[in-house]
Order: sequence, then C-alpha cells, then structure tokens
Amino acid sequence: MSVIPGAWWRTAEGAGLLSADGTVAPTIFAEMSAAAARTGAINLGQGFPDEDGPQEVLDAARQAIAAGVNQYPPGRGVPDLLSAIAEHQQRFYGLEVDPAREVIVTAGATEALTASLLALIDGPDDEVVVFEPYYDSYAAAVALAGATLVTVPLRRPEFQPDLDRLADAVTDRTRIIIVNDPHNPTGAVFAREALTEIVRLAERHDAVIVTDEVYEHLAFHATHIPIATLPGAAGRTLTISSAGKTFSTTGWKIGWVHGPADLITAVLTVKQYLTYVNGSPFQPAIAVGLRLPDSYFAGSAAVLAHKHEILGAGLRSAGFEVVPPQGGYFTVADATELGGADVAAFCRALPERAGVVAIPLTAFVSPEHRAEYAGLVRFAACKRVEVLEEAAARLSAGF
Ligand code: PMP
Ligand code: GLN
Repeated sequence: MSVIPGAWWRTAEGAGLLSADGTVAPTIFAEMSAAAARTGAINLGQGFPDEDGPQEVLDAARQAIAAGVNQYPPGRGVPDLLSAIAEHQQRFYGLEVDPAREVIVTAGATEALTASLLALIDGPDDEVVVFEPYYDSYAAAVALAGATLVTVPLRRPEFQPDLDRLADAVTDRTRIIIVNDPHNPTGAVFAREALTEIVRLAERHDAVIVTDEVYEHLAFHATHIPIATLPGAAGRTLTISSAGKTFSTTGWKIGWVHGPADLITAVLTVKQYLTYVNGSPFQPAIAVGLRLPDSYFAGSAAVLAHKHEILGAGLRSAGFEVVPPQGGYFTVADATELGGADVAAFCRALPERAGVVAIPLTAFVSPEHRAEYAGLVRFAACKRVEVLEEAAARLSAGF
C-alpha cells in the first residue's frame, strides 16, 4: 500500500490524517484525552458526559440484545426509529418527515455529515462554506470529498456569523453551506436573522444547507431554531442530529439525517458503502428516548445550564474571561491575561500546571486565521457537578 504523507487535511495544530513522517496523527480530542489519562488531569477536553443517560433508554438496549436484535438492521435504519425521528421532528418543530423516504439512520452525526458531502460534491470546483471556528470533522470531510473549504468567521462576543463575509463567501460555486447550531465550540445559538440570511443565499445560489444540530436539545439561554423550519429551507436542507448528546450515549454512535427524498437517496448511496448499517440493538432504544416526555428534554438543558454556571464561575475566579454560552457542551474562556496568548502551548501545559485538560480554540480554525482566536480555550461542562467544582478549585490554585 502506498500512502502520501501529509496529503490529507491539516488541523490547526499542524496535524493531519497523515503527518509529514507518515504516521497517523490523532485528532485534538484523542490527543487531549490521552494527556488526561497520562497525567490524571480532569478531562474537560473531549466532549462526552461522565454520567449515564435515561434508564429507559439503557434498559431498552439491554432488552433488545437479550431479545436477539443483534444482526444487520435495514439499510435505512430500524423502521421504529425512523418513525420516532419523524415524530420527534413534528412534535418539537412542526416539520413533516416521511419516515420511509426522507430519513436514514447513520453511524453518528459524523457519518451523516461525511456521507452527505461525499454524495453531493462533484470535485474541487465545488465549494463548501463553513462557519469558523468549526468542528474538526468538517474540514476533514470536505477534504475527503475533494471540495474546497471556504470559511466565514463567527465574531466575538456572541460568536454570531459575520453576515457581510457570508454574503461574499456564498457564490454560484457554493455547493453546500454547513451550519452547526447550537455551535461547537463557541456555544452560540444562531439568531433568526443569521439563519434567514443563510437560506436567502442558499436559494439565490442554489446551494444545499447541511445543518448539524446535535446539540438541538441543549440550548438554554436562547431558542434553537432548526433552519429547515424557515420559509424556503426544507426543500434544500439536510438536517443531521445524533442521540449521543441528547441521551448521553456518545459511544453508541446512532445519528440520523433527514431531508428531501432525492437528497436522502443520494446520501444513502454513499452511506451504504461507508458503514452499510450500525447499532441494531441501540436503534430501538433511541426510539424510546425520542419518545420521552418533554420534561426529559427541558430537564437536560436546565441541568447543563447549571453546570455551565459552575464552570463559568470557577473559570472567572481563576482569572479567565468567560464568554457565556447559549447552548451546547462547551464554555469558551479567554486565557490571554493568564499568559495564554499562545493557546496551543497553554493547553499543552495545563494538565501539568493545573491538573485540568482543555482544548485550544485554534484547533477549530484554519491555520491562516489562528491569530483571531489566539488566547481562547474550550472547556467541556458536560461533567458531574463535583468534577466541575474540583476542576474550578484546581484552576484557581494553578493561577
Ligand atoms: N457535530 C458536532 C458539532 C459535535 O460536537 C460532535 C461530537 N460531539 C459531532 C458532530 C459528532 O457526533 P457523533 O458522535 O454522533 O458522530
Ligand atoms: N464532539 C466531541 C468534542 O467536540 C469530540 C468527538 C470526537 O472525539 N470525535 O469534543
């Protein structure tokens, strides 16, 4: 087998699928989780909860395994889950989804996104617009699909899209606009004005909107508006979500994508050769989760908001300047005053210095734009309260 070192995408930290010496470079999340394991530091880096999700969901998976639901499910997904996804979209957002033709289950949101890009991109002349900072798999998937990445900045303090830059970025070459709302890593929840402008530009330039809404139920200081609910959007939008965040089951990798039947068919043609199918006993369990009462969904957002309060207070008392999030797992804090202008070096030293692991925001930014986000650190709030309190105490002692 021949490999071409450095041929794939580069992350902001200079890594890639293959680094220059031909070794496989880890993602920033894997690297930082390894640092936590090595040093015993509290891991506020990789975004995964340290508590189990709803008992009903866990029990349903155990029952499915015991009942022999252990072989390949249908290619589009288990019919009961397809129906539960359609019911969920109707119940929370008033969206009409045909479970037989307009939705497929995927191996997490990651596969839904990658399959969507591989299905819709023709070649390097196709451009994909993303908002920066962006979740790391977006640039990787754009590179795998052979398209050209075009970035639009999210501006502090609210991290809303720069609409002038958006208007410049979207052209007739734009095949896809990727939206991530609520947003990782900034915690922004996109305002209606921004979403409306995205739809207007997509219509004008005939682009597809691919929206990653894995934190859809974790908006707490703003209302999450699924972009597919805006006038004119549903016919050109692929909406992606995942059970990982909503039910604290990130390891199950049950995600989904829904949208117009022709786009979904295109995604399925790729998806069937990526994983074919996944997670047969977990699919009926997630159907149970999606049918839980409203109180479950509202409750998990409220709990996460409380955790962000604790984390934010701890970061402030340690001397960080905190950017309060409106949703999602993460709080962004400015470490410039604490000597964190070189934030990658700051985060690499943090486990030894303070016993806490966090992720530099530059890991979500193209190399040429790093300076704009220098000093910013992402901390995960999806941990038990006592863990966050201990992390806050360690940070206060460390600075
Ligand atoms: N999109 C965003 C914005 C995420 O933060 C994550 C990871 N938590 C994913 C996608 C990946 O989701 P999944 O694990 O379902 O593939
Ligand atoms: N989504 C998680 C985060 O942003 C990481 C998932 C992963 O490691 N790929 O931290």
